[in-house]
Amino acid sequence: KGKAKKAAKIATKKVERAAVLGAGIMGGGIAYQSAYKGTPIVMKDINNAALDLGLNTAAGILTKSVDKGRMTAKKMAQTLNNITPTLTYDSIKDVDIVVEAVVENPNVKAAVLKEVEANVSDDAIITSNTSTISIDLLAQSIEKPERFCGMHFFNPVNKMPLVEVIRGKDTSDETVAAVVAYAAKMGKSPIVVNDCPGFYINRVLFPYFSGFAQLVLEGANYEKVDKVMEKQFGWPMGPAYLLDVVGIDTADHCTDVMAAGFPTRMAKISNDPSSVLYNEKLLGQKTGSGFYEYS
Ligand code: NAD
Repeated sequence: KGKAKKAAKIATKKVERAAVLGAGIMGGGIAYQSAYKGTPIVMKDINNAALDLGLNTAAGILTKSVDKGRMTAKKMAQTLNNITPTLTYDSIKDVDIVVEAVVENPNVKAAVLKEVEANVSDDAIITSNTSTISIDLLAQSIEKPERFCGMHFFNPVNKMPLVEVIRGKDTSDETVAAVVAYAAKMGKSPIVVNDCPGFYINRVLFPYFSGFAQLVLEGANYEKVDKVMEKQFGWPMGPAYLLDVVGIDTADHCTDVMAAGFPTRMAKISNDPSSVLYNEKLLGQKTGSGFYEYS
């Protein structure tokens, strides 16, 4: 009597098996990170070429580590063994969590999330790695929105510590706790944030890209902008290079979402240098050409 009540403990669902939808830049990185940290993961895409890209992403990171003497060949084999590539939903039936990482398009994501929910167990957690699309908007495609939230990794997944866990209005505490625990198990530093287009990081990053686009349209040389940001200002890379790393297509889709979400502050700039590249299908590192050339 008189003693403070113990805070109610949240039963945290343990993630023993995961799935990632999409084997692109992010899907491949997420598969690698989960597998490396000991959680087997199914990686689904819509064609074999895309699956190969995802597997190559993982194999590339592993080979580099082995070559540098930071990893044994045995650990590399174990990690690769933890990744199951697939083109069907059959192998996601018994996973504890799904991370959707397909293209940044609300309609494609809505369709994929519906398919996911029809194919997972009743208590599986469903997350989206969307960069900018509101979690409450995506939750409209989910029958049990309490099991859904954002799980936003950063690129390259194996190097970037942050994961934003985005809580929608219907996300349960149990879901948030389980996703935070899975992110920590993957060796990441999760933060829980509220929902809005762009969440936390991209609310900061996209105005920066927009400022960069404006400067270029006013005559600035993008290579010089990058050089100053890198060499004098000390950031790891400048905005043009970063856009090439993110993918010009993904950045363009994100810009559209931010413009729709914040029409007065983030209106899309016509002739933005990224949209010019996008229209010419120069998508950055993923196609070998963007602001810069990659061999
Ligand atoms: P990407 O273009 O490299 O890969 C997308 C993959 O999704 C492709 O392999 C494509 O074949 C696959 N796909 C499309 N429809 C599918 C379907 N119905 N089922 C399964 N797979 C399908 O894109 P990305 O850069 O990996 O981005 C994926 C998601 O991650 C996007 O929502 C993006 O906003 C987000 N994100 C990207 C970055 C980044 O820097 N690129 C960072 C954080 C988050």
